[in-house]
Amino acid sequence: MIPFNKPYLTGKETYYIEQAVKSLKISGNGEYTKKCQSYFEQQYGFKKALLTSSCTDALEMAAILADIKEGDEVIIPSYTFVSTALAFVRQGAKIVFADSYADNPNIDAQTIEALITPQTKAIVPVHYAGVACDMDVIMDLATQYNLIVIEDAAQAIDSYYINRKGEKQALGSIGHFGAFSFHETKNIISGEGGMLTVNDDRFCTRAEIIWEKGTNRSQFFRGEVDKYGWVDTGSSFLPSDITAAFLWAQIENLERIQAKRKELWEAYFKAFSALATQVGIQVPVLPQYATNNAHMFYVVFDSLETRTRVIAYLKEKGIWAVFHYISLHSSPFYVEKHDGRLLPNSDKFTDTLLRLPLFYELTVEEVDSIVESCKELY
Ligand SMILES: *Cc1c(COP(=O)(O)O)cnc(C)c1O
Repeated sequence: MIPFNKPYLTGKETYYIEQAVKSLKISGNGEYTKKCQSYFEQQYGFKKALLTSSCTDALEMAAILADIKEGDEVIIPSYTFVSTALAFVRQGAKIVFADSYADNPNIDAQTIEALITPQTKAIVPVHYAGVACDMDVIMDLATQYNLIVIEDAAQAIDSYYINRKGEKQALGSIGHFGAFSFHETKNIISGEGGMLTVNDDRFCTRAEIIWEKGTNRSQFFRGEVDKYGWVDTGSSFLPSDITAAFLWAQIENLERIQAKRKELWEAYFKAFSALATQVGIQVPVLPQYATNNAHMFYVVFDSLETRTRVIAYLKEKGIWAVFHYISLHSSPFYVEKHDGRLLPNSDKFTDTLLRLPLFYELTVEEVDSIVESCKELY
């Protein structure tokens, strides 16, 4: 049997957890939390990184920091995970859904401007499969219309955008905020886990306060203020240092994990590209401005019927392939609130995109056997 995903343990997780436990400093913002945060800040150029309990939490923090209120509009792609929208809906925002490109599930940056109204407060691009959205276009719109940009970089650790000046910018370092996930299905993991990145100085101090239940505890412990108390809204967004200790083991092996995932991704890509021209399966399209972090390998079929047939056949062979994302604009919770615009590309990916197994312990031979099984069907 080949599962869809298998969390990879580097071997050091329980050692670092034991160290954290023995230090008796296991609440949030401890030594491992600080180590992880400074690693990410230095490696990827985030102004400030704060570990959170999930990417969903990081998005909720961003929605509070962006001061999203009742009646504000937020533009997000329809083809994404629930949390991308939910964090803003909880603040009372109206979600204005944008469509994907025809050949790439990312938000079609060329369609965003037409969705902007005087109520628009923020744009939330999602770097699907770790592939960059067209951030120059999005950041230009943000400047022109005074909007906040929150990158949903849940899948985008260690991936980059190449801007129009030819500079490589880490995803999550470009918008005002970025939100990452370390859920066990992502490239590096901590069970549940996430991170908010803050790239605009205006928000750095407040981000720490929102993170620590609306208190100025962080400033107090740095000796910047002489009293520690309740100064703002917030919640308990920070994870235990036990979670950060787990994540530290993953960070130490990030390069190795990424190298292996890329090897597997390339094997899929090569095999399916050859098949694609023969039978009309689409392989992922990587825009010129995007790098690949091998978060996910997916293919796109010609119809829902074909995809259903392929899933059933692979299952018979003991291979678990899954699809995801029902367009959010037609989900039970939001369909009544959606303005009725059709989003055909998002619906197309809803019906025809299939994710194939991709995890550290998968082998190139297994990738070949998965491709062979798909071939048999044609
Ligand atoms: C995984 C994921 C999330 C949610 O991450 P959690 O850490 O589980 O909250 C949000 N958005 C996208 C695009 C994701 O892939």
